[in-house]
Amino acid sequence: MAKRLVVLGGGESGVGTAILGKKKGYDVFVSDFGKIQDNYKEVLALNGLNWEEGKHTEELVLNADVVMKSPGIPDKSPIVTALKAKGISVISEIEFASQFIDLQTIGITGSNGKTTTTMLMHHLIKQGGLNMGLAGNIGKSFAWQVAEGKFEGYVLELSSFQLDGIVDYAPHIAVITNISPDHLDRYEYDYGKYIAAKFRITMNQTEDDFLIYDADDEMITKWLETNKTRSKAIPFSLTKILEEGIYIKDNTIVSNITNEEFTMPINELALEGKHNVKNAMAATAVAQLMRIRKDTIRESLSNFQGVEHRLEKVLKIQNVQYINDSKATNTNATFFALESMITPTVWIVGGVDKGNDYDELMPLVREKVKAIICLGVDNQKIINAFANVVDVLVETTSMQECVKMAQRLSEKGDTVLLSPACASFDLFENYEDRGKQFKLAVQNL
Ligand code: ADP
Repeated sequence: MAKRLVVLGGGESGVGTAILGKKKGYDVFVSDFGKIQDNYKEVLALNGLNWEEGKHTEELVLNADVVMKSPGIPDKSPIVTALKAKGISVISEIEFASQFIDLQTIGITGSNGKTTTTMLMHHLIKQGGLNMGLAGNIGKSFAWQVAEGKFEGYVLELSSFQLDGIVDYAPHIAVITNISPDHLDRYEYDYGKYIAAKFRITMNQTEDDFLIYDADDEMITKWLETNKTRSKAIPFSLTKILEEGIYIKDNTIVSNITNEEFTMPINELALEGKHNVKNAMAATAVAQLMRIRKDTIRESLSNFQGVEHRLEKVLKIQNVQYINDSKATNTNATFFALESMITPTVWIVGGVDKGNDYDELMPLVREKVKAIICLGVDNQKIINAFANVVDVLVETTSMQECVKMAQRLSEKGDTVLLSPACASFDLFENYEDRGKQFKLAVQNL
């Protein structure tokens, strides 16, 4: 009899898993406690897949042989608890789909910079002539792409939730961009557990695999001092010269990880900001391990278009540069945005605070920010933190009002930076909606 695969969550990864499961001969059922989007319902119907929404019917779920849980569903949810109590294996999409391929994958995780680094890396690899898929938290789901089988490998953006649900999955090359507190609500407010989740990316790697990591990141280096990994470690650093790794010398990225030394002047990188130098280092390491030609790596690093909502230059109006960094939903991301500002800055901040400590931003705000525009329902914490630090601090409650205010408060040569350090759910659907509304409001000025 066919094995029963129950898919919890009918979103991108759920629908992809269902399609792959059916192709591999499973008896598949999709169960979503919320609503399934119409476009996914159509796909499910087209593929002859059974589903339910608005509930998890126990008789249809608890008879599974294996369960794929979408990353948005917490481990603590009643249905997952019930499944675990019955000893049923609950895995992530990455675990499920990777069983069916015998191809190399590159897995990128970290608290910030995953998408940027993944996209940059994929760009380098593509320019290098390799036909690898781009998946994970980006675009079309990994499982769906595996079902279609068009690629010779995959570059995967991996969240800690995806990694929580792996059993045997091992990327040939793992990248950890950095670690700072995020999503702690899903880890019982235990930072150690969140860090351990990120490092699961290395747990099934062997001596033939690689781990690329930020050697300036204290949390990462501490973990590596006290825990063992089998893969070959390749550090990158902005501050230290590394015997074997990627580092900076005379404003140039230097990599000595393969027999061929690679160099790239920082000012030729397409993406600006120190954090993007780190991202470029990680991408370079991967490209070198994939044997991509040095000229191609250099060219690709300098012509990469960037990713929407990440320090995205929108427009220059009356010599004021408007920048959309809507994806900055924590202070660490905003730190790097502020750090990369080279002009007086009008900073737009606020939204749903996930437990921010604004202290780390203080020196940068003092140095660079001339005015703060709060864009959130509850701005009290921001006001308390910065009221005495900047000359001008105003509150706004819509993007239009906010952007008009930014125009009023800025003058020739300034930058207006939307880098909210907060989630967006109080006033917007999500960070994309916030970023799009920002760009539209700027275009309408
Ligand atoms: P993620 O996918 O991990 O959320 P993104 O690439 O979407 O990361 O970037 C999220 C935010 O973090 C953006 O504001 C971006 O400018 C910033 N960022 C990008 N790379 C880094 C990095 N290496 N360190 C810190 N912040 C970064």
